[in-house]
Amino acid sequence: MQTREPVPYVGRFAPSPTGPLHFGSLVAAVASYLQARVNSGRWLLRIEDIDPPREQAGASEQIIETLQHYGFEWDGDVIFQSTSFESHEEALALLVEQQSAYPCRCSRSDLADAKRGPLGRIYPGTCRAGSEPGESSIRLRTNNSEIAFDDILQGRIVQRLESEGGDFVICRRDGLIAYHLAVVVDDEIQGVSEVVRGIDLLDSTPRQIYLQQQLNYRLPGYIHIPVITHQDGSKLSKLTGAPGISLREPKKTLVRALRDLRQEPPPNIEQSSLAIIWSWAEENWQLGKLFECKAIFNSA
Ligand code: GLU
Repeated sequence: MQTREPVPYVGRFAPSPTGPLHFGSLVAAVASYLQARVNSGRWLLRIEDIDPPREQAGASEQIIETLQHYGFEWDGDVIFQSTSFESHEEALALLVEQQSAYPCRCSRSDLADAKRGPLGRIYPGTCRAGSEPGESSIRLRTNNSEIAFDDILQGRIVQRLESEGGDFVICRRDGLIAYHLAVVVDDEIQGVSEVVRGIDLLDSTPRQIYLQQQLNYRLPGYIHIPVITHQDGSKLSKLTGAPGISLREPKKTLVRALRDLRQEPPPNIEQSSLAIIWSWAEENWQLGKLFECKAIFNSA
């Protein structure tokens, strides 16, 4: 009888350097880190620096420094996504060659009247049958078969890509590789076996699974953790004015992140060392406490 080699656990935290690490991202980092540690896995830090127009000078260094200061220990060197550029380009070329993807000349204004769906404007398929040569984006051809996955916390998620969002961009008009393609290629080449990230990316996952299928990649498991919100329910993000987390009180902030993740660290544990807080967290991590939880009010 053939036995399958068990897949070694590899997790990752993949911030985009669009600003300093805010509390919501710290919570996502803590969850993915603990999930990797309790599975005796590797945990990678990947800085997703492939969108220079959206990047903020110095943000990568600031994020790395903050994570270090909070006691995170990633395996291997920090990975900069821009260094896998050739793999992104190869995957793109393969998708075009197998006619899973095609050039599209539509501009934003061409699509302004397109119907809206749950994933934004639904691409009406204008360039599917061909387009004039010239500056183009590249879209992935979708269909209406069900793309489904079982999120460990959020349950079964199902999308029909063609009717819910239509063919989507995998390489932008300015030549930059789009997030969905880059993330899928990198997760594959880095052997990521489980993705733990914020629920704001839940809607993106079926598109990423579809890409994995088109590229014949392994499918990682997915866990989408609740977003941290302001009291009015809006997501903590740079756009809603969430500040970068301070380097001044890492123990207090880390304990707050654990409490927000519904773990129950003992009172006054913030008076112990960071190492003790982390070892308590590893010994007591219970992902299940976040079952079906979609949002958590920022406790600060
Ligand atoms: N780089 C993305 C972000 O900062 C996250 C990518 C992912 O976790 O898949 O929002």
